[in-house]
Amino acid sequence: MKKKYKLKKNARYGLVGIVIIIAVILVGRSIYKDYVYKHSYEYNLELRGYDEKEIKLLIKNLDDKRLDKLANTKKDPVIVAFLQEKYYISKNLDRYLKYYENHKKVAYSDIVALVNTNNDYEHYEHDLKAKTSLDELLLCNKFYKLADGYEPEDLATMKNKYYYGEAQVVRQEVYDAFVDMWNDANEEGIYLIVNSSYRSFEDQKELYDLYKDNYGTTEADLVASRPGYSEHQTGLSVDVFSKDNTSTKTFKDSPAYSWLVNNSYKYGFILRYPEGKEDITGYEFEAWHYRYVGKKVAKELHNNNLTFEEYYAYYIENAAKKTK
Ligand SMILES: [Zn+2]
Repeated sequence: MKKKYKLKKNARYGLVGIVIIIAVILVGRSIYKDYVYKHSYEYNLELRGYDEKEIKLLIKNLDDKRLDKLANTKKDPVIVAFLQEKYYISKNLDRYLKYYENHKKVAYSDIVALVNTNNDYEHYEHDLKAKTSLDELLLCNKFYKLADGYEPEDLATMKNKYYYGEAQVVRQEVYDAFVDMWNDANEEGIYLIVNSSYRSFEDQKELYDLYKDNYGTTEADLVASRPGYSEHQTGLSVDVFSKDNTSTKTFKDSPAYSWLVNNSYKYGFILRYPEGKEDITGYEFEAWHYRYVGKKVAKELHNNNLTFEEYYAYYIENAAKKTK
């Protein structure tokens, strides 16, 4: 009898012991879970006033260092605004914020466009390499400089019915596309005519120095590119007018200009320096300067009202980094 009782008693203790252990585990786990949750970004960002959507956006895009900072300071609506921009590029966030600090009245989308295209730097003071390996998608402007002595390999001389003045030279693919465009324009009664195309480094230097010697650097920079930074050196650009209007002042009012604006993309050309985008391209509106980028990209730019600078930053440079 005694033995049986003892066994029963032991079993009861054992059972109580197990229950206690389970309870401790459960409570411990819940305390631990609570601890982890209270130290999570989700919890702390919510405390700072971010909503669920914003929290997801922040966690998806920012590194721990920045999240730690956000979790410990009052809500920063500016960062959230930048993250929601269509052309947001993560490596540029600090530059967006810095630009915003100094230009609070500029729209977020404009800041993103300006910084993506390096316009938070001064022209000619932030040299990057123009990637000629990208072929018709290479970017050359006041930030992207061509390698010294760069000269395209497949330059072709135009037949003289396509130009006036000196003989004109462009890359073969550009020439073929131009001829297609010329023929279709001609059928609609528009006679396109080129007056400038490929320019060598030396030609550009001569041109720029002439302005510089006569009017000084500031004036020269307004009307000509410095050598190495001119898109004309790529063999991908043409200055196009029409036979009845070759004036840089009035070409924008001509039927040929309207035709080019509405149709040139179908042949792979874009109006390179459009009106209203001067701060992005670094050039005054040039109704006559067309750049070959191929049909696919030309259509994208045309449909989305993007400059080549903006397209290049987001779809070429940034996309290449992401897939690396
Ligand atoms: Zn030009």
